[in-house]
Amino acid sequence: MGRLYAAVDLGATNVRVAYGDKTGIKKKLMRATDKSRGAGGIAAQITRMIRELEVKWIDAIGVGSIGPLNLCKGWVVNPPNLPFKEIPIVEPLSEAFQAPVKLMNDCSAAVLGEQMFGAGVGLRNIVYVTLSTGLGGGAIVDDHLLVGKDGNAVEIGHLTIDPASELVCGCGCKGHWEAYCSGSNMPNYARLLLGERKANDSILLQLAGGTPEGITTEILFTAASEGDPIALWIVDKIGMVNAIGFADIVNAYDPELITVGGSIALRNPVLVLKPIDENIDRHLINRKPEIKATPLGADAVLYGALALAIKEAN
Ligand SMILES: [Zn+2]
Repeated sequence: MGRLYAAVDLGATNVRVAYGDKTGIKKKLMRATDKSRGAGGIAAQITRMIRELEVKWIDAIGVGSIGPLNLCKGWVVNPPNLPFKEIPIVEPLSEAFQAPVKLMNDCSAAVLGEQMFGAGVGLRNIVYVTLSTGLGGGAIVDDHLLVGKDGNAVEIGHLTIDPASELVCGCGCKGHWEAYCSGSNMPNYARLLLGERKANDSILLQLAGGTPEGITTEILFTAASEGDPIALWIVDKIGMVNAIGFADIVNAYDPELITVGGSIALRNPVLVLKPIDENIDRHLINRKPEIKATPLGADAVLYGALALAIKEAN
């Protein structure tokens, strides 16, 4: 009998679960995250969803989760986008399935998934970056996953680009990378760049209802895809900031490969990755690695959770 594992991707918006073996995911399921039954409702929802997969047995469970985490207690604590202080994960799941449970930050899980199932097979130095509602990363250095004292070793979204910036990050600090380039903050940066610039005849402002206040990340990339010069200029400026962030990653971790996931990068791979490639060199002291979209797509964290479970059971 081969070993079977359950994998969980816990996000603020969606929960994904899957089961699989060492060859990959066999069956998966996604639902909106249930915020209506208190903090305990999250593990209960995950338990119900894993049961729905009708897997015959489970040797271990891996969970890639939004942070911050308390890894000692097996909790998610004060997540910015869920209304709970402490969400117990490890204990309720291990009780429900009588199997070991490994919890990890979602991007740290994803980089393990990349090494076991994705573009990083056979590599010992890999960074995974997600460009999504938020901005995060996971790193394997010398074949070793970086975790940190609380499980938050690679919080790259909060690297400072410009401490004098007008842009305030969700964490409250000024000029963090995420304040420019995450899905939730990109429209603020677009408005700052637009400033007094006359752009009334641009596709961007037409799609935004005639006012910069109407700009969303989706509208920005739609206008850029249609060739609107103003939108393309803003997307290029965002790419220049991303190039600084990616260069910081290369200078700090010296990876041979950086893979990029998250909805913004996966939906707009050329618009996001090309300006990084064109602008990164001037910020680098280390040798430039390969930088590309993850082949695991929207399942990157789920594959990561499967990799966590496999490592936990072996
Ligand atoms: Zn921040």
